Amino acid sequence: MSDKPSRLSTRIDFEKDGKQCDYLQLPHSVHRSAYGWLPVPLVCIKNGEGPTVLLSSGVHGDEYEGQVTLSKLIREIEVDDVAGRIIIVPMANYPAAKAGLRTSPIDELNMNRVFPGEADGTPTLMLAHYMESVLMPLTDYALDLHSGGSSLMYLPTVILRAAEVTDEVERQVVELGRVFGAPYGFFFPPGQGGGATNMAAQARNGIVPIGTEMGGMGAVTPECLRVCEGGVRRVLRHIGVWKGPVGPDEQPPVETRMLTAETWESFSYANEDGIFEPLVELGDEVEKGQLAARLHSPATPWREPAEVRFDASGLVVCKRVPGMTERGDCLFHLGADFEI
Ligand SMILES: [Zn+2]
Repeated sequence: MSDKPSRLSTRIDFEKDGKQCDYLQLPHSVHRSAYGWLPVPLVCIKNGEGPTVLLSSGVHGDEYEGQVTLSKLIREIEVDDVAGRIIIVPMANYPAAKAGLRTSPIDELNMNRVFPGEADGTPTLMLAHYMESVLMPLTDYALDLHSGGSSLMYLPTVILRAAEVTDEVERQVVELGRVFGAPYGFFFPPGQGGGATNMAAQARNGIVPIGTEMGGMGAVTPECLRVCEGGVRRVLRHIGVWKGPVGPDEQPPVETRMLTAETWESFSYANEDGIFEPLVELGDEVEKGQLAARLHSPATPWREPAEVRFDASGLVVCKRVPGMTERGDCLFHLGADFEI
């Protein structure tokens, strides 16, 4: 990462006690607004000494459970219930979140593939650079809330490994993952997104990073929302940064089934363009070699559809949503039980 200072600014003073709700100002001088800036919502709630927790959602703008969860928390958290500092960025890639898109409509970038960003880059690069160069050095623990977005649907899952971390950090991540109390916990195979993801950036900054994949389909699922809200609240209480009451929408914790995908064989991809006919559902247990999907070509209806088979056995954790599918699109991914 360059040593250049961020060009983003905010009126929020991260060292000041109290609840400050304002904007991060992202310079964006365009035809309709010379010298303008984009308003990225930012909240800092600080009360005395204690750990700092960074809560983010909207890194992908079409993932909504996290944005709703953090918006509720911003309204509910009272300063007197905080011991330390909670920094909340509910629309981390603001242009993408405003448009309801995975990637930014301004520069077409996926924020979760551009860390550490660039001080003088396009808006997504500048936002990633601010997160890593300004917010992460302040942070001890981070929760980055994702879901399947427009193209995927996930079982309610807490993400416990998406980057290389030390054994001690992994121990803390697993502890927080159990406290989160989601039905499923997932350990991604090494190398996903390289070092360019938000969680990878958090890990290299010495932060204890956990994440979620909660539902998706470009919508808000009540069950996933309740799991997400309960999990974030329990983690904040467990860390000791917040002692707030149990919320009306909080779902009690459940024992987490720990899953992993050791290799990319647990991911199934379309081998042709076509209309996706899934042959299994989320939560199904499947066997290696089992038929996963057919891809139909109604323009040549006399031709047999292409078949996709699973290259591994496991639980269907994630499933593609749209019917229209192109070669290379992810259709499913599986999880295998993981002993910790
Ligand atoms: Zn995401």
